[in-house]
Amino acid sequence: MVFEECERPVAAWRNREFYRGKKVECLTIILRTGGCSWGQCLMCGYRHERYPFRDEESLTRGITSQLRWVHDRYRDEGYDMVKIFTSGSFFDREEVPSYARDEVARLFKGKLIIVESRPEHIYPEVIEEFIATIDTNRWDPPLYVAIGLETANDAIRDKSICKGFSLNDVKEATQKIHAVDAGVKAYLLMKPPFLTEQEAIDDMVTSIEACRPWADLISMNLCTVQSRTLVEWYWKRMAYRPPYLWSVLEVLQTAGDPILCDPVGGGTPRGPHNCGTCDRELVEGIRTYSETGDRDLIRNLAARECPCKEEWQFILREERPYCAPLTR
Ligand code: SF4
Ligand SMILES: [Zn+2]
Repeated sequence: MVFEECERPVAAWRNREFYRGKKVECLTIILRTGGCSWGQCLMCGYRHERYPFRDEESLTRGITSQLRWVHDRYRDEGYDMVKIFTSGSFFDREEVPSYARDEVARLFKGKLIIVESRPEHIYPEVIEEFIATIDTNRWDPPLYVAIGLETANDAIRDKSICKGFSLNDVKEATQKIHAVDAGVKAYLLMKPPFLTEQEAIDDMVTSIEACRPWADLISMNLCTVQSRTLVEWYWKRMAYRPPYLWSVLEVLQTAGDPILCDPVGGGTPRGPHNCGTCDRELVEGIRTYSETGDRDLIRNLAARECPCKEEWQFILREERPYCAPLTR
């Protein structure tokens, strides 16, 4: 990677999100940071997107340059929400040095900010300090901490994702986050490897219900095949298929209150897809639903007909799990 490239974020773009019944203009940034302290999740390619120099001084300089780059290009005030993804956890001090974290707070003061963190990097005093800088009394709460819970089922999170923490760890982190008046966003993963299509639907529906009592926002991420991951290894050997868009619609219909879902990579072989003919309309519809919360739209999309719907129904009936052993 050339030097100039790593002084820019992995990606930054404008989008819209459905927040508390309204469409909100959003700026999403994927920062190149020091790298995830865990780095073992089977589907995750972001852990490879780390900043090449790991000492605190270089990392601080690198992240600050990326932030300035974003701030210069998206200078206008036309967005209210800022979503920041890192190569792991925003509140991990080894990954995002304190000066760089403070710079985020200074540059995006007054915005509604969403950052992501594993539960072991939740330090209430750090979050409190961050909130003190960004808060202008415009948003309540001014900060959401997103945690990649992925599923409420500890066995699936362990065996199919290798996430390295439990539901209980996330609930404890949630208490700490709420204690300093920040919100919690739960990220769930639709169809990790080793689940049948039907198991993936059931797991997502159960997980959404399990998160409702304590998560202030819930976002369903659809599993994609990222390069240099174990999921890619299985996918290349016909041992993994991303979820059908029909399954996504089924979950959104069953789930009740609007769930955020941006079908990234939708309609491509590496992303959630159907047959190729009906994908585009369904992907656009799911994206619109994420911005508007229009439940009629989801009902109408799920009622659409396409020959691949029969195939999907067959898969739901006939696919069988091939179990991984529980012991060594
Ligand atoms: S914790 Fe997050 S960033 Fe780290 S490996 Fe897992 S999914 Fe990737
Ligand atoms: Zn189709």
